[in-house]
Amino acid sequence: MTDVLANSLSELTDQQFDLQHLWHPYTSMTNPLPTFKVKRAQGAIIELEDGRQLIDGMSSWWCAIHGYNHPELNRAVTDQLQNMSHIMFGGFTHDPAIQLGKLLLKITPPSLDKIFYADSGSVAVEVALKMAVQYWTALGHSAKTNFVTPRSGYHGDTWNAMSVCDPVTGMHQIFGSSLPNRTFVPAPQVGFYDEWDQTDIAELEKTLAEQHENIAGLILEPIVQGAGGMRFYHPEYLRQAKLLCEKYNILLIFDEIATGFGRTGKLFAWEWAGIEPDIMCIGKGLTGGYMTLSVTLTTQKIAETISQGEAGVFMHGPTFMANPLACAVAAKSTELLISQDWQSNIQRIQQQLSIHLQPLAQLDDVKDIRVLGAIGVVELSFNVDMKTLQQEFVRRGIWIRPFGKLVYVMPPYVISEVELTTLLEQLVEVVQNMEQPQ
Ligand SMILES: *Cc1c(COP(=O)(O)O)cnc(C)c1O
Repeated sequence: MTDVLANSLSELTDQQFDLQHLWHPYTSMTNPLPTFKVKRAQGAIIELEDGRQLIDGMSSWWCAIHGYNHPELNRAVTDQLQNMSHIMFGGFTHDPAIQLGKLLLKITPPSLDKIFYADSGSVAVEVALKMAVQYWTALGHSAKTNFVTPRSGYHGDTWNAMSVCDPVTGMHQIFGSSLPNRTFVPAPQVGFYDEWDQTDIAELEKTLAEQHENIAGLILEPIVQGAGGMRFYHPEYLRQAKLLCEKYNILLIFDEIATGFGRTGKLFAWEWAGIEPDIMCIGKGLTGGYMTLSVTLTTQKIAETISQGEAGVFMHGPTFMANPLACAVAAKSTELLISQDWQSNIQRIQQQLSIHLQPLAQLDDVKDIRVLGAIGVVELSFNVDMKTLQQEFVRRGIWIRPFGKLVYVMPPYVISEVELTTLLEQLVEVVQNMEQPQ
């Protein structure tokens, strides 16, 4: 660092430093959206530097299911810290990885019993795609390398994860031909609460019939398409998709990174359909929002096939694989969730979301209101002005981060009835008073 730079840095306020030097998610470096400086967070309350308190409606993007600064999760981290914060997973193993693995096998689909630890949701998706390709290669089907996925999906921001995101709301225009060409089918149209209509699966059937020789897997988010549009679809779609995958020799990959750990009202969303995938990714809520960790699970058959292939091994191994701190807090978070009556709690949140949001359906500018588990979505008929809306939410003491036409909430499960009522009353008032941007 030059002296000139050092001097000019020392004159910046924290806010100015952040603005000029720190890149935020999906943000311009020349014309960034304002950020709010957080001092601490506790339960469902986020406290800003200036003392203002916000009720959290986002769980830090699906993660902080038990709220912030949870004494038991804190203790899991500090206890593990006394032993080791990290150790390589090549050649070593440890209690946190083993304990977490045992817990996960109790709550994930019974046919999945091989666990691969990775460092983030996107990497878990990369691992899943690589497993599928290595599986078919090991079986001598070296043409089966492509993937099919419904539109409106979201699977992460790394290269291959990005390639299976929705091609319109995703990043395909920006990255163009640098992205691998995937096969897209229409997003499921029959809603979660609607009556099933068999035509919803027709395009997938046609596509698989035509292209199965080149397709390694079908990847989708079961029941809830998250960041690609917050859409809830019919469980029968998954049952039909499973039948088609079996018919055409295609691996079924469930991305449960957003839907896992009770968010939809089931521990994992596959349970709504009773359909087990061949490969499943989990992340986000896994550590209760304490640190980054993800898991890709698969079957004995796929693991054996890969291991008996020419390579003889599965070719992936992140530096921070099975990080002990992350595994320790993930094990505690999972234990905490399944040791309580989480179903009743999610039910309570779902009821409150429905009661408060439903009246908005009458507004002209509101296209749809939908609620499933601890997810509430207000879909507008126009794109919101995120900057203005975010400031208005903060002014009213709530934290909600809308995108596109969607104002949605997925609060931490520890949110109290009173906190949730306040959050939703403020949200409703803001939407009622909102003017369509010119
Ligand atoms: C967030 C998300 C990812 C990516 O996870 P990161 O930890 O951000 O890499 C992948 N799939 C789904 C469904 C997600 O919601």
